[in-house]
Amino acid sequence: MTNLNIDTLIKNRDEILKAEIASFFILLEKTNINKWKNINVRKESCKRKIDYFPECNKLDFNFDNFCKEVNLDKLSFSFNGKNLNLFNDLLKDWRSGKNDIQKILTRGCENINSGIDKGSPDDCNQLPELYISNAFGSLRKIVNKESLDKNRESCKEDIKKLIEKLRNNTFKFKNDRKQFKDIFCNIYSSLLSDSRFPINDVTLYEQAYMTATMFKSALAAMLLDNSNLNYVDNPQSIRWSILGIQYDKLELAEKGLKAASIKWYRDTADEVDDKIKEIIEIGYTLGNEVYKDETGIYFLVPENAIGDKKGDFYEIHSDLNELKEKILNIFENKFDGEIYPAIFLTKPSRGLMNLGHLIEKAKENFLKQERPEDFTEKLKHDENPTGICQVCRMRLANKKNKDDLICNVCDGRNKNRLNNWLDNRNDETIWTGELQDKNGKIALVTLKFELDKWLNGDLVNSLVVNNCNYSQTLDNLFNELKTKNGRNKKLKNTTISDFVDKSLRNRINLSDYLKNILLERSIGHEWEKFISKQLKDWDDTKQESKKQKIDFEKRKIKWQNLNNSDIEFLSTLLLQFLLRKNPSPARLRRIWETTREFFEEILSNIVNILEIPKWRQRRVILDVEILNSESSDCIDKEYVYKGLHFWEKENQLYLIDSIEQFLKVFNPAYLQELYKNNDKDFIISKKVFEKLINQEWQIEEHSEQGKNKKTYNIKITDVDLDTYKPILSILSPTPISWQFAIPADRVPVLLKKIKERYKENFRWVYGKLPLHIGIVVQNYKKPLYVGIKALRNIRRDCMEWRHLGKELPGKDLKARQKEVFHYSAQPEKIADCENYYSLYEKTEGNGRYEFYLYTADKRKQWLDTTQNTADTDKFTIYPNTFDFEFMDTNTRRNDIYYRKDKAKRFLKIKQNRPYNLSDWQYFEKFKEYFSDEKSSSKLQTLVNIIYSKLEDWDDKEAMKRFILSSFINILELKNRKQKDDFAGILKCNGWNKLENLEGEELTKCLYMILDMFEFWHTILKEV
Ligand SMILES: [Zn+2]
Repeated sequence: MTNLNIDTLIKNRDEILKAEIASFFILLEKTNINKWKNINVRKESCKRKIDYFPECNKLDFNFDNFCKEVNLDKLSFSFNGKNLNLFNDLLKDWRSGKNDIQKILTRGCENINSGIDKGSPDDCNQLPELYISNAFGSLRKIVNKESLDKNRESCKEDIKKLIEKLRNNTFKFKNDRKQFKDIFCNIYSSLLSDSRFPINDVTLYEQAYMTATMFKSALAAMLLDNSNLNYVDNPQSIRWSILGIQYDKLELAEKGLKAASIKWYRDTADEVDDKIKEIIEIGYTLGNEVYKDETGIYFLVPENAIGDKKGDFYEIHSDLNELKEKILNIFENKFDGEIYPAIFLTKPSRGLMNLGHLIEKAKENFLKQERPEDFTEKLKHDENPTGICQVCRMRLANKKNKDDLICNVCDGRNKNRLNNWLDNRNDETIWTGELQDKNGKIALVTLKFELDKWLNGDLVNSLVVNNCNYSQTLDNLFNELKTKNGRNKKLKNTTISDFVDKSLRNRINLSDYLKNILLERSIGHEWEKFISKQLKDWDDTKQESKKQKIDFEKRKIKWQNLNNSDIEFLSTLLLQFLLRKNPSPARLRRIWETTREFFEEILSNIVNILEIPKWRQRRVILDVEILNSESSDCIDKEYVYKGLHFWEKENQLYLIDSIEQFLKVFNPAYLQELYKNNDKDFIISKKVFEKLINQEWQIEEHSEQGKNKKTYNIKITDVDLDTYKPILSILSPTPISWQFAIPADRVPVLLKKIKERYKENFRWVYGKLPLHIGIVVQNYKKPLYVGIKALRNIRRDCMEWRHLGKELPGKDLKARQKEVFHYSAQPEKIADCENYYSLYEKTEGNGRYEFYLYTADKRKQWLDTTQNTADTDKFTIYPNTFDFEFMDTNTRRNDIYYRKDKAKRFLKIKQNRPYNLSDWQYFEKFKEYFSDEKSSSKLQTLVNIIYSKLEDWDDKEAMKRFILSSFINILELKNRKQKDDFAGILKCNGWNKLENLEGEELTKCLYMILDMFEFWHTILKEV
């Protein structure tokens, strides 16, 4: 490790930030309509001219002029002792790489996000119309002409003003830089960089952002220590590391005794992340945030920021200790010493794929948090403590005369939140009383994508940019690589000519190309180790490559040492790297932005999605006059009247129970009318409450322990209604998950809607991107942390990917796909998404391609679509699932444990959970079947019989006969149709099927009845 020149870096802070900002301009030419009006497809077989905007005229746009008009040419910056002009030296002819800094920008950084990112899709494969897809192939946005030149020109004046600020040194790097980024996000995010399918999944903004970030980090690396870097002469040697500041945000949510403290922790974590961002992005200009989730916040940073190796990762370089101290201080100040992060960096590589590994190991890393030695003394404990605080569970607290044992620090935070609530009271509620459904229950929900294998790039291998006759091409490639003559062929004369960039075909020979592609896409990543091992070029004791066949450091392939099977392996890998989509930084970013946006879109629309009637979103506010003389001490407290809870503030009582509960007490007949009225938009009028005016109540101070309760006499002077959202966020949406609470009776509609939305967003990768839904239901009075802790279990975080898989006959998968493809948009069908996105692991029968799908697993894996599937073909899919638990007791959490090998519950009686989300339809059928009162009592009888017989019945055949006849007798199944209808609930297509179930299968069916009964009867009381 050499020394880093931190001072030089900090001194040049403004210079780096200027260069970063300027690099956002480079893609502006693609915002001009001319780029999309004249697309010449030159390939003989599909020669044509395309004009995507035939109705529009060409518009003059000159990149150089634009830069000059916003005065970029009047802005200088200095780098490595040279005084440069931002326009002349960086932006003008930037692609030419005419000087050092341009080489770094284009060949070192931009190239990864453009050329390499794209791969080389067939020229014939032009988009039917310009549309942006999400990372998984579904249409997001049609590119319209408004987002082209007009949009850019309308931002010009703002850009000019910001450049002016940079010139006269009034630029505020925190706010103005953000405004710059927002402007470019606005200009770029509705546009593509290429008209070919299927690379319409990355927008110009993702490319620009990742290029700017990599460029900034590369410059920082050179300023920190240039002695070992060779960036200028060899820009492809630039590497980056990922710096993770990891801390457990789920654990913070678990501290929530009340919703107010959950909100405090959530907001504070956001503030902490923002502060860290500011320090790393602006204070030290090391790089930019690339990812953020419940495990922490992650930045791209220079490769020389790594320090000593520690396990799989690296510590931060000791010369950057002052940065580390600053980060730790942020935590200490914001969380009052409760939480400190773990800080690790990944092995440097040419991309972002190592991020996946760092996230995967987050749980282990949390244990290595950087706590100061005297951290317990730093906590501000209460004087004369009586125990540990129930909220933070760290400080000693004094009981005083409060309900709960809460330390002064936590108490202070709560008070703050309550004031905040009243200021934002039309937003989410912080009262579980308002969340409760008509039976007093709330549901805590976790939605979680099993995203690991996408984040580390593995599953990107199952998406292709090109299709070909695989075995033929592979044979040819192998034969070419085998001989020196073949390796020296120019690319255009080789079998892979069609899969490489046009500009390279004449310039470069096969062996150089193989070297570039293979090394560029594997160096510093798991692939590097994998390739060495596969070539038997790995030293197990030293845990490093022997370098006899490939020297990754020196970028050399030693052909003379490779035998035929080595060459076959390299041919397979090269062809795979050319056909698959490349997990470039911009594409990986697009993947996690897609999943996060999926959650965010549901959140922003949640009240409609849950079909919560308008009247249910109302809160009663009573204007009151306090009749007691000593009225001054009754403010800012919770009161009870007839079992209803209110919050008092400035002579107003805010109902903090649901309006359903309020009407139950004051106008039950009207409530029944509301239930009958199916109009979701029906508005309750104030008149309903008019008779309350002038009533006198005696309200009582709320205290769970019921001692010294003061009472006050009040008179109601007016009644008002307020609106709020009956939802409570526990964890804000991240790319992986989202946690929140809703009225329990909204769960069925939630499941239905998520199923639909999933199809809308992820149809082409159905079965490859599993979404797991966990639901925990509890009484609204129970402390929230009880349910939130259970929520942690029901996320099933520790399941291994391979155990989530399920083998499925090809025809069954095809049938399910048919259902999801129903949601596809017209351009997707024309573009033929299925052939590019819907390749599955084939476990029985050969497939289209044989790829190394998972880097950790050395096997090759057949991949195929289901289009030409034979009856015997089998595929592995990773289904969407849902699980639920009713917290009737606090220890019920212990029921939520999963078997490692099956991803199902340990407990015999709950062994069916989690269910595949596709099985939700049977739950719906069950409810329909038993919803009238008469069948409800039959159901009770049936359930009792099942319970009594399931445990102690040895003779399975006899049990089956008994159970089947019980079904017939109790449910009065008189004819074939009635029998078939009932069998349909149990996933059986007809009574015959039910009759023929084997012992184990029938038991599963009976457990399913019990689960459905628990869900609809015990939890929701709807059957
Ligand atoms: Zn506390």
